[in-house]
Amino acid sequence: MSTDTDVAVVGAGPAGLAAAYHLARAGRTVRVLEAAEAVGGRMRTLREHGCLIDTGAEMLPPAAGYPATWRLIRELGLDADPRAVPRVRGALSVWHAGRARPNAGRPLGLLTGAGLGAAARADLVRLQLHLARTRPDPEHPERCPQGEQTLAAFLRGRHPELRDRLLAPLAAGFFGWDPERTAAAPFAAHLASAGSTAGWRTYRDGMDTLARALADRLDVATGHPVTEVAAAPGGVRLDSPAGALTARAAVLAVPAPVAARLHPGAPPAERDYLAACRYAPMLRVSLVLDRPLSPPGARRGFATLLPAGEDPLLGVVTADHNKHPGRVPAGRGLVSLVASPAGAAELLDAPDAADRLAARAERFLPGLTGRIRAARAHRFRHGLPAPGPDALRARPAFADRPPAAVDYAGDWVALRPCSEGAVSSAALAADRVLAFLGDRDARTATVPAARRGR
Ligand SMILES: Cc1cc2nc3c(=O)[nH]c(=O)nc-3n(C[C@H](O)[C@H](O)[C@H](O)COP(=O)(O)OP(=O)(O)OC[C@H]3O[C@@H](n4cnc5c(N)ncnc54)[C@H](O)[C@@H]3O)c2cc1C
Repeated sequence: MSTDTDVAVVGAGPAGLAAAYHLARAGRTVRVLEAAEAVGGRMRTLREHGCLIDTGAEMLPPAAGYPATWRLIRELGLDADPRAVPRVRGALSVWHAGRARPNAGRPLGLLTGAGLGAAARADLVRLQLHLARTRPDPEHPERCPQGEQTLAAFLRGRHPELRDRLLAPLAAGFFGWDPERTAAAPFAAHLASAGSTAGWRTYRDGMDTLARALADRLDVATGHPVTEVAAAPGGVRLDSPAGALTARAAVLAVPAPVAARLHPGAPPAERDYLAACRYAPMLRVSLVLDRPLSPPGARRGFATLLPAGEDPLLGVVTADHNKHPGRVPAGRGLVSLVASPAGAAELLDAPDAADRLAARAERFLPGLTGRIRAARAHRFRHGLPAPGPDALRARPAFADRPPAAVDYAGDWVALRPCSEGAVSSAALAADRVLAFLGDRDARTATVPAARRGR
């Protein structure tokens, strides 16, 4: 039975595009179906008011932390110009005692303090040594030494300043995690692999650079929301108001709760894992300013973490105009306000979310509200994977599933709260789909010609 394409990939975020790229390079015909009007998913960039506005992801560590991503960056020649993936200067500060304290999460901070007293810094060194020794594997969080410990239990063992001023704000502000419900292993593995904040980089032309480069080489249909994926003669059928499509195999490169909805016929081990892969919602507000503003203490800095005691609804303030030169027109400013977990819960659907967060941010960016020229709220119901111990327990059965006509890619596949998880899952999904199709081809080839209907 002939199908429209060998493989249909649902979702043009980094996972779907990277999976499609690997499959196309292996000689398969591939069609990518994307619900939105542009590619990038949670790594999408808007170009408005002369600014590059990253809606979700904003930085990437160097190759040691994101090997799959950097393999693609090099293969596509995106780093041919060394200025194309620049370092983020003054990447991370922590708000403490009325101002931002720079150099958080990097060796220099051990000297300058970075908002921590000597005992807390000593405990940070102990934690780093422990992570270096135990090397928690971000691709296999279920095998990490933290076992099924919750993040709350993991944090309780640390010095209170380290916990309250750095580790808990990182987990809340960057991942939207509730420590009582989230497992410690993915956090420990991410800390260990992402390394020092001194190495953080970004894409000069927007965080969607990799997605756009991949999409340029692929057959991508935007404005094509898939509503259901079901078995069909010769493979699978993908329904959509934009038109149905048949394929020999499909990769669902969408957040786990969306994959579960699209594929109700998934086998039990897949269904159990999909159900366990919860997400934290994320809310980011981008504000275009008539001049640059930065928190006191971090005039040239990028992100400032706000401990929960400083503001219940705000988690991070970023000065995007400092991320690298050329993000905004000369003399303008661009800042982002990332809601805390409580803030995201309260404001995700609030029409006045931008005004309310901006009013709260006035304390950290004096004069902010009078400088705003445009505001944009980016709302992610499925912001970042927030795996609990139950997801770790369900993972081995999911990882051991045999190759099938429907496979998956996405940051949730290895429970990683970052784009590297998405990109590395794509190579795995492509290998599995190729194994499935190769197996089918081999079986068809051994069937006598007469039975194949010639
Ligand atoms: C606020 C925020 C900040 C972040 N910061 C960072 C960071 O600094 N560094 C980092 O590495 N990571 C960061 N991340 C995480 C990173 O963005 C994600 O891990 C990554 O985008 C996941 O890629 P994905 O392809 O798995 O999913 P997505 O990027 O979500 O892509 C899924 C795609 O599927 C599409 N889709 C959904 N449903 C359908 C459907 N029914 N039919 C067709 N298409 C559909 C969506 O529109 C989307 O384009 C951040 C995320 C958020 C939300």
